[in-house]
Amino acid sequence: MKSTLKRTWAEIDLSALSYNYKRIREHIGDKVKFLGVVKADAYGHGAVMISEKLQSLGADYLAVSSIDEAMELRYNGITMPILILGHTPREQVDRLICFNITQAVTCEAKAIEYSEEAVKYGGTLKVHIKVDTGMSRLGYICEGDYFEHGVDGIVDACNMPGLDAEGIFTHFAVADEDGEEAEEYTQHQFKLFCDVVNAVEDKLGRKFTLRHCANTGATADLPDTYLDMVRPGLLLYGYGEFAQKLGLKPVMTMKTTISTIKIYPEGTKISYGGLYTTDKKTRIGVIPYGYADGFLRCLSNRYSVMTSDGAAMVRGRICMDMCMIDLTDKPGVGVGDEVEIFGPSNPIEKMAEIADTIPYEIVCAVSKRVHRVYLWDGKVIHSEVMLRM
Ligand SMILES: *Cc1c(COP(=O)(O)O)cnc(C)c1O
Repeated sequence: MKSTLKRTWAEIDLSALSYNYKRIREHIGDKVKFLGVVKADAYGHGAVMISEKLQSLGADYLAVSSIDEAMELRYNGITMPILILGHTPREQVDRLICFNITQAVTCEAKAIEYSEEAVKYGGTLKVHIKVDTGMSRLGYICEGDYFEHGVDGIVDACNMPGLDAEGIFTHFAVADEDGEEAEEYTQHQFKLFCDVVNAVEDKLGRKFTLRHCANTGATADLPDTYLDMVRPGLLLYGYGEFAQKLGLKPVMTMKTTISTIKIYPEGTKISYGGLYTTDKKTRIGVIPYGYADGFLRCLSNRYSVMTSDGAAMVRGRICMDMCMIDLTDKPGVGVGDEVEIFGPSNPIEKMAEIADTIPYEIVCAVSKRVHRVYLWDGKVIHSEVMLRM
């Protein structure tokens, strides 16, 4: 591609996404449905483009975090089922119904609000009941002494006018962590969830259509937890140990080009705070990738980007819009050359580890001025930047 046209861009490989989707489908078997999590602008990959691809591939459901995210998809031609995982204000319930968006119901108070609004509007709101089995975030508490109360609350919600309880779900807190303790915790959550579902179904005298709980870790590793549908996010985008285990491909590659190169004598301080001092005659390149693009500032002096001639260390503080890299032993690398910030030859997992964070945070941090360039079969098929122009 013509790299000189762009400042800094994220290549989003839809062929890799498609490969990952098919590979996960193969892994879960053909009886289990697939919900793709596309919240947070599809983990920074662009929710519309990713959802279009998932829709055309035959995914069963999408999940987002808010009604704004859901409406973006509906306004852009996504017709498949969408579940909102977070809360929606009661004033917006008519829009949920009108645009056929499924809403999570997380407690009795919300159930009542949604029911009242749906009745007022004269429609039916499709809902999935959220059970809190140990994440301690959203959902009906059903642990220990709360069991009967939780189950009764869920049964009430399912019987409320204006609500159609299509599904029930829970979220695992440590399914992506190693060790016996984590495994036991997840198994406990899963068992509690099954107990709740069974008790509710007994009281209701009917079954839920969609019971789901498997996030990335469980989708990769815990087939017993699939129930009717899996709900992976990160796995789909091809990052992390589970993706590697399944042989999935990273969808995003972050690239930039070298703006300028200068040679400094020994003893020169580089960037804000003079955090780095050259220890010899040093050839420094400037790249237009800073913390306002999503380059975590804590990586200052600690991370290397990939050039055509190998890894080049970031020197000194990462600035808002750019940073400096050491090209001293790379005379063949020049102004205008492409640099891979993370991607197939410079894994995001390594970047996350050095930054003491997770790949999730890095892809979500990619900011709106970074062009998203979509590839299919190695060719650019679409490009967008989220600035008002
Ligand atoms: C974000 C989220 C997921 C996806 O998590 P991953 O770890 O990316 O697979 C699934 N379910 C819920 C409720 C979520 O909030």
